[in-house]
Amino acid sequence: MRPRPPRSPYRTPLLALMLLAGLCAGALAAWPALERHFLTRAAVRDEATLRLVTEVLRGALGRTEALPALIAERPILARVLRNPDATGLIPFANEQLRLTALSLDVSDVYLMDREGTTLAASSYRSERSFVGENFAYRPYFTDAIGTGVGRFHALGTTSGERGYYFAAPVLDGTEILGAVAVKITLDRFEDAWAQSDSTVAVYDTANVIFLSDRADWRFRSIGPVSELAVERIAATRQYPLTAVSALPLRREALAGGLTRATLETPEGRESFVLQEGLIAAAGWRIAVLTPAGPATAQAAATLGLGGLIVALGALVAAFFGQRRARLLERLEAQRSQHALLESRVRDRTRDLDDANRRLRAEVEDRRAAEERLRRTQAELVQAGKLAALGQMSAALSHEFNQPLGAVKSYAENAMTFLDRGRTAEARDNVGRISRMADRMATISQHLRNFARRPKDHVGPVPLRAVVEDAVEIMQARLNRSGVSLRGPDWPNAPVWAMGGRVRLQQVLVNLLANALDAMDDDPAPVIEMALEDHGDTLALRVRDFGPGLGDADLPQIFDPFFTTKDPGRGLGLGLSISYNIVRDFGGTLTAGNAEGGGAIFTVTLRRAAPQTQETAAE
Ligand code: ADP
Repeated sequence: MRPRPPRSPYRTPLLALMLLAGLCAGALAAWPALERHFLTRAAVRDEATLRLVTEVLRGALGRTEALPALIAERPILARVLRNPDATGLIPFANEQLRLTALSLDVSDVYLMDREGTTLAASSYRSERSFVGENFAYRPYFTDAIGTGVGRFHALGTTSGERGYYFAAPVLDGTEILGAVAVKITLDRFEDAWAQSDSTVAVYDTANVIFLSDRADWRFRSIGPVSELAVERIAATRQYPLTAVSALPLRREALAGGLTRATLETPEGRESFVLQEGLIAAAGWRIAVLTPAGPATAQAAATLGLGGLIVALGALVAAFFGQRRARLLERLEAQRSQHALLESRVRDRTRDLDDANRRLRAEVEDRRAAEERLRRTQAELVQAGKLAALGQMSAALSHEFNQPLGAVKSYAENAMTFLDRGRTAEARDNVGRISRMADRMATISQHLRNFARRPKDHVGPVPLRAVVEDAVEIMQARLNRSGVSLRGPDWPNAPVWAMGGRVRLQQVLVNLLANALDAMDDDPAPVIEMALEDHGDTLALRVRDFGPGLGDADLPQIFDPFFTTKDPGRGLGLGLSISYNIVRDFGGTLTAGNAEGGGAIFTVTLRRAAPQTQETAAE
C-alpha cells in the first residue's frame, strides 16, 4: 500500500484565506450590479414623484398664465392708466385688484404704467405695498409691453418672496397703456416636497436652483452659470447674486441610464439617484434626487447576506471536508497500524515457528538420547544379569560341590560299612546321602524358580506367600548368619497386592540380602519386617540394624552400579533392578534411615481384590 503524503499543517488556514479572497473578489464583482439594481428600484419608485411634481407645477403655472390678460381687460385699469390722477380711481382699482387676488388665490395682482411704475396693487394695504415701485427692470414687464406676454420667476425685491410672475399689456384699442402682473408664490410646493425622503430641486436655464425643499440649496447653481446669465441675473435682479454659488453636486452616469449625483460638503458626503423632468414653458428643469443611502445599504445587506450564506455554505463544506479528511486520516492510521500489527504477528509467528522447530529438534534429540540410554541400560542390565549369573554359578558350584563331596564320602563310607556287614552304619550314611539329595533338590527347585523368565504380566499376588517364599530362598543364609527375623504380623484375611510373584520375590530377596550384608559384623543381627495397610495401598517395610544409609549415598542408592561393597561382593544392580520392578507394578520403592539406626526400605504396592490361588499372577 502506498503511504499517503502527510497533510500540511498550513492547509486549513490557506484554504480559509483563499475562501476569503474568493469571497472578496466575488463581492467586488457583484457589488456594482447589485447596487444598480437597488438604485434602479429606488429610482422607479421616485419616477412617480417626479411626474407628480412636474404636473403640479405645470398645472399651477398653466392656471395662472392666462390670468393677467383676463384681468387686463377690465376697463377700470385702462382708465386708471389714462388718468392716474383722477380722484378715487386708484383706490377703487386697488380694492378691485385686492379682491381679484383673493378670489384667484394668487399672491399679488398689480398694475404698472408704461414706465413700469406700479399704480395700483392688491397689496396696497400691506406694509410691503407694491404701489409706487418700479419694475421696469423685470423681464415680465418688458416682455409684456414688448411682445404681449411676460413671464418670469424671481425673488421679490419688495416682498422678499420667490414668485412666478405673469404679465400682460393693458390695451386701449391697439395702444399699450401699461401692464398687469400676477404673482404666485411657490413656497407651499416646497412644503409638500419636504414630506418625502427625496429632495426636489427646480432650476432654470441659468442652472440656478429656484425651488427646493432644502432651503440651503436655494439660489445655488447646479451646473456652470454662464457670464451672460450672471449679467442677466444682475440686470433683472432675479436672484441676489451673492447667494448664487456652486452646489458641489457631481453627476455620474451609471449603466442602465441611471445618474448618480454625489454631494460633497464639509459636513459629509451624500449620494443620490438623479432623475430630471422639464417644464419647457417656464424653462425649468425639475430634479428629483432619491437618497442612494438606503438602496446602497440594502445592496450591502443583500451582499452581506449572500456572503454570509456563501461563507456558511463554505464553512459547512469545510466542516464536512475536514471531517472527511479526519476520517480518512483515522482510517489511514488504522490501516497502517493494522499493517504494523500484521507484520509484528508475522515476525512473532516466524519466531514461534523457529522456536517450535528448535524445540521439536530438541525433543527429538532428547528422545534419541533417552532411547540410547534405555538401550544402554537394558544392555547393562543384561550384562548385570550375566554377571550375576556368573556369580551365582560360582556360588552354586560351591553349594553343590560341598554336598556332592559329602555324598561321595557318605557313599564310600556306606559301601565300606556294607562290605563289613555293618548295615546300621551303612543305613545311617545312606540316610545322610538322601538328606543331602533333598537339600540339593530344594536348592535346585529355587534355582528353577529363579531361572524361569518371569512374565511381564502384573496381577494380584498373595503377599504373605510371596514373603514366605523369599524367606525360604534366603533360609540357608539366614540360618548361617544367626539373624532373628521378626514380623510381619499378618492379618487374618489374606492380603493381595498388584505385582508379579517371582519379581516381587526377587525384590524381597534382594532387600533381605542387603540387610544381612549391612549387619555382617553384628553377632546378633535383627531384621524387622512390617506390613502397613493404607487402604488402597499396602506398604511392606524391611528394616535392619546396620549402619544405615550415608547422606551422600541416599540420592544415588537406586542408580545402577552404585555400590559400596568390595569388588566381587556387589555389583550395584540389585536396588536399581528392584526399583524398576516395583515401578512396573505401579508401586514405589523408597529408602531411608530408621529412628534408632539402621536402614529401612519400603515397598508400596496397590492393593488387589482377594483371589483364588488359580487366578493369582505368576
Ligand atoms: P550391591 O548389594 O550389589 O552393592 P545394591 O544395589 O543391592 O547392590 O545395593 C547398593 C548399595 O546400597 C550397597 O552397596 C550398599 O552400600 C547400599 N545398601 C543397600 N542396602 C543397604 C542396607 N540395608 N544397609 C546399608 N546399606 C545398604
